[in-house]
This record gives sequence, C-alpha cells and structure tokens, in this order.
Amino acid sequence: MAKTVTLADGTVLPALGMGTWNMGETSAGWKEDVASLRYGVEAGLKVVDTAEMYGQGRSESLVGDAVSDMRDKVFLVTKVLPSNATAEGVAKSCRVSLRRLATDRIDLYLLHWRGSVPLEETVEAFRKLKEEGLIRYWGVSNFDVKDMLELERLTAPCECVANQILYNLEHRGVEYDLLDTNRFRHVTTMAYSPIGQGGALLRNAALKAVAARHTTSTGPATAAQIALAWVLRVNGVMPIPKATSLVHLKENIAAQEITLSDEDLALLDTAFPPPTRKVPLDMI
Ligand code: NDP
Repeated sequence: MAKTVTLADGTVLPALGMGTWNMGETSAGWKEDVASLRYGVEAGLKVVDTAEMYGQGRSESLVGDAVSDMRDKVFLVTKVLPSNATAEGVAKSCRVSLRRLATDRIDLYLLHWRGSVPLEETVEAFRKLKEEGLIRYWGVSNFDVKDMLELERLTAPCECVANQILYNLEHRGVEYDLLDTNRFRHVTTMAYSPIGQGGALLRNAALKAVAARHTTSTGPATAAQIALAWVLRVNGVMPIPKATSLVHLKENIAAQEITLSDEDLALLDTAFPPPTRKVPLDMI
C-alpha cells in the first residue's frame, strides 16, 4: 500500500508527490511534461508542486493545462516569491497563480523562502486568502528551526501545515533538528530535490551497491529509486521528485515498493553520515 502523510487537521495525502521545476520551459517539451503529470495523477500521485517563480509562471500554466479537468484528484501546491510577500503582493500573486492554474482554489500556498517582508504581514495575507476560500492551507519553504520558532510565536497553535525543504542523502543536516521541529508542530516536511536533481548522487557507489540488492516492478532497482525510497521511509516526510520522462516517473512510483534493510541503511549511513551537530539549512 502506498505510504501516506497526515496533515495537522487529519487530511491524508499520498506521501509521494510530483515536482515541476523546469517543466514548461520550452514548447517542444510541453506535451511530454503534461503527459507525465497526468500519468502521475492517474497513478495516485495527488500532490503536484509548482511555484510562480518556475519559468516565470510557465510551470503553473503547464500544471493548469495538465490537471484542470481532473482537479479533484489533485492537491495543488504553489508558492509566492518573498518579493511578493506583502499584503497586496500575496493577494495579487495568488490571483495570478489561480488564473494560470485554471482553478478557483490552491490547496497549499507556500512562502517560497524568507525575504525582507515581516513574517506577520505575510501570515495575515495568507489568513485573508483562507477566509476568502482562495487557498485551503498555507505553509512555508526553506525555513530553518529559528524561522519555524518565530512563526510559532505568531501563530499558536501552528497554522502552518508544511515546510518544504531540501532533503536527500547528500543533505541530511535537517535530521539534527528541523525534521523534529516540524514534526512536533504537526508541520509536514516536503522534501525537495529528493534524488539530488539527478546529479552526482546517482553515481555514488554505495547507492549503486544498495540498488543491486533490490528489484521493483520496473526491473532491477536504480540508484534514483534507492535515493527516493530512502526519503520515503521517513514518517511524515513527502518527497516531490520531478520527472519529465515517463520512464523516470514509473520508476519513482515503483520506488514505493522498496523496503531498505538495516544493512542497506548502515551502508548508506557510512557513505552519507547523519549530522552530529547543527548544520544550517541548505537551499537550492
Ligand atoms: P529532483 O531531485 O526531483 O531531480 C529531478 C531530476 O532527476 C530531473 O533531471 C529528472 O529527469 C531526474 N529524475 C527523476 N526521476 C528519475 C529517475 N527515476 N532516475 C533518474 N533520474 C530521474 O530535483 P528537483 O530540484 O526538481 O526537485 C523536485 C521538486 O522540488 C522541483 O521540481 C520543485 O517542484 C521542488 N523544489 C522546490 C524548491 C524550493 O525552494 N521550495 C527548490 C527546488 C525544488 P527528467 O525530468 O528528465 O525525468
């Protein structure tokens, strides 16, 4: 059975979502990107993550194109830029995003990262959008522990439902404190770049060695599937890998079949040691 995460109000979502950064950048790839997202939604990957920043709105338009006729099957996440995080800016950005996404509501609206606008003003703007029914939930992204504590002082009990952060085998610093900081406040951790953007991580020898021990319905396990399974195994964490290629997407779905053994985990811990002290949150 597919793993799930539960939001603070009890809403249950599939733990595996889909990212869309760099999607919709060229008209040549548009059809393929749309097909990939539609396949993922039909396969039960409900959470689709985008942002007003991605392709200056093209990613949101692509998501709208892909899922507007299956809106109820999707939990739409988008983000407002810190430079638009004022009362007026949030209200305007949200409406522009809604138009691009071809919908009347955003399920989860995130502040992309902290900028110079006082947090209080952004939170107030999110509350207003909620009252107006334009967003269902709001959250943050790239917030480290001290940011989460500041947010908590503004909204107790915590109204923020998610913190989207960089988390993968190469970036484990959040295990020292931030994952628990989120968890104890019922804030879902969304893990971005869970497979290291398809880069050096996937060439790691330990990852390949663990992959060689597993098989999934798509065939012998790949390094990417192990990297994803490693994030997926953490309770309350929702990885949102981006896959344009249908082959990659199918592999990512099949990664949910993998259970890593203690031996696998030990090998990965040796190659990618867990943090032993506070590490400032990394950001891409
Ligand atoms: P990912 O770790 O998801 O890696 C994406 C890359 O990996 C793509 O090149 C993709 O190729 C490739 N890939 C996907 N699946 C496989 C597979 N099974 N085998 C081999 N390669 C694979 O990186 P992202 O940075 O895209 O992160 C995911 C999402 O997180 C983003 O799309 C975005 O929505 C979000 N994000 C949020 C940030 C924030 O500040 N809040 C920052 C960064 C990302 P291909 O597309 O060709 O299939």
